[in-house]
Amino acid sequence: MNNVLEDSMDQHNLTNDQKEERSLHAISDLGSHHIVKKVERYKDAWVIHTDDSSSFNMGDYGREPKPGDVVTLYYVNGRWTMFRGMDLNGVPLYFKTDAEVETERQASIVKHKAEQRQRFIDSKDELDAHYDALPDVFKQRIDKFRTGNPDFRWEYEAYEMFTCTQAVLIAEALKDEQSIVAFPDLPWEKQLAAVPGLSDGHSGNTFGAAVLLARLYVTNQEFVVKMHGAMVPLVGCEEYGCTHDKEADR
Ligand SMILES: [Zn+2]
Repeated sequence: MNNVLEDSMDQHNLTNDQKEERSLHAISDLGSHHIVKKVERYKDAWVIHTDDSSSFNMGDYGREPKPGDVVTLYYVNGRWTMFRGMDLNGVPLYFKTDAEVETERQASIVKHKAEQRQRFIDSKDELDAHYDALPDVFKQRIDKFRTGNPDFRWEYEAYEMFTCTQAVLIAEALKDEQSIVAFPDLPWEKQLAAVPGLSDGHSGNTFGAAVLLARLYVTNQEFVVKMHGAMVPLVGCEEYGCTHDKEADR
């Protein structure tokens, strides 16, 4: 009776579902205890530095952490992925059930898609102008994705267009296959000197794809159309709208 009372007082801020799932996680996540070394205030939250050299944002759940306190962290997928809950000295600050984690995940997808749509609306004129300036084989390449995925324009076109315009720039500046093959190994200053207008906003993925497309453009233009989409290594052909003629794909 005493235990039950104590337990219910300690967890008064949790729902029954949260209590139940927390008790399951408390068993499997026993290792994620951290001793508070230093506490800082940042905006509306406490930032915790621990004696095992990790730092994280605790938020503010109405209880001020102090050096020497023990914080228990609960994760969505293994250590140092997203937090689903925290205890301060064994008493929960919050805990999210699987259903709550999933609801938040869905909401963040909806928000991300809304932001993507808005970015597309804002940049449509610019994308159209880049498209109009592309050589025909690159236009056919973009057309392939637009046909393959009705949402391609707002989901991925900015990424693909950036890669394609940079590929054309590289091909027109370097002109032959040998120079394009040697290009990625040059130091940055020499790359920029060889290809004026080369963007400093490349990821490893867009840069690699742009160089490969440039090479195909000066050697075998048909493959500019056929080559996988620039973001396919990250999201896959089907999601991107990267369609293939089965015969030609082998
Ligand atoms: Zn593909």
